[in-house]
Amino acid sequence: MPVVGMVGGGQLARMTAQAAIGLGVTFRVLAGSAADSAALVTRDVTVGSHLSLSDVGSFAAGCDVVTFDHEHVPGEILTALEAAGVLVRPGSAALRFTQDKLAMRDRLAGLGVPCPRHAPVSSVADVVSFCGGTWPVVLKAVSGGYDGKGVWVCSSASDAADVLGHGIALLAEEFVPFRRELAALVARSPSGQGAAYPVVQTVQVDGICREVIAPAPGLAAGLAESAQAAALGIASSLGVVGLLAVELFETSDGLLVNELAMRPHNSGHWTIEGARTSQFEQHLRAVLDLPLGSCSPASPPGAFTVMANLLGGTDSDIYDRYIHVMAADPAVKVHFYGKEARPGRKIGHVTVAGAAGDDVTAARDRARRAASYLRWGAENGD
Ligand code: ADP
Repeated sequence: MPVVGMVGGGQLARMTAQAAIGLGVTFRVLAGSAADSAALVTRDVTVGSHLSLSDVGSFAAGCDVVTFDHEHVPGEILTALEAAGVLVRPGSAALRFTQDKLAMRDRLAGLGVPCPRHAPVSSVADVVSFCGGTWPVVLKAVSGGYDGKGVWVCSSASDAADVLGHGIALLAEEFVPFRRELAALVARSPSGQGAAYPVVQTVQVDGICREVIAPAPGLAAGLAESAQAAALGIASSLGVVGLLAVELFETSDGLLVNELAMRPHNSGHWTIEGARTSQFEQHLRAVLDLPLGSCSPASPPGAFTVMANLLGGTDSDIYDRYIHVMAADPAVKVHFYGKEARPGRKIGHVTVAGAAGDDVTAARDRARRAASYLRWGAENGD
């Protein structure tokens, strides 16, 4: 059986490990610490830094293919591995577009993919000239941002000056008054096979994904198909191997691409129960160049699957509440990542896989109730 190595020991690696068990492939993790979410449950763990060429290089030496649960491995390390003959999937040429938002925006614009208007900025004058004095405007860190960290909505030149004071490379973007946010998740194998999951709706609060509804309720078939086609086209043009999540804004004029991720993605956790092939299995199949699995929903047509993230509160005694959540709604699936609860940190998720006739509002209420109960307990639940 081949050996797949995943750099990064977070919950994405932990859930990929579960899929690897099912497939029977050997799975290794390079984790920053033995207490990382995936390191706690994976037998084959190397503790080391994804920023060290020697740590990543010696980890890769024992693997048939190397893949990632985050996009933070420096480009120089990726290219050094490739030069040494390691199969790095996705490769450095594709991953670059997840590490540099400016390069991503420029490349997508070059491909004719609709994106928010953008420009690099390094002074308040640049920002003012970009927005022509019309606020708000969005400033983003060119690299290193995640979960909304590194995204600032500025309502004035003085807000922009504060952000510029961080002294990091920034780009400005038009503020998009979107109707809602969507995500198109696709997989691509080195042989060029592609597969697309149903387009989902994502709900962000303070830049953090809170809820995913699959498929996106009421999305016109034409828009869903064009989002899937755009995601498959981007995967092929950028040479992505593995999963590609394309985060989108739905506006009154159509869809705009916001962001790309080339790994299992929060918008795809619903697939564990809600699709014939989970995104984690699909990623493994793609990086191993196996035929891809079916992306069809597991539930009957017309049903919805809802996923709600479980964010850490001040009380970490989650297990204490399992009994109530499971008794109240036996169809709710609880996933806990073994992470210490810290306020706002993603520590788990719950999924309500839709049954025929379920209406989406009821499924959303059930998922939210379970997540909120787990987080706060009965006394504080909403
Ligand atoms: P991150 O890489 O940190 O997840 P994103 O670029 O995905 O950052 O932005 C996080 C969230 O901020 C988005 O999900 C969206 O809600 C909001 N956002 C980002 N860009 C814009 C924009 N141009 N206009 C309006 N809202 C935006």
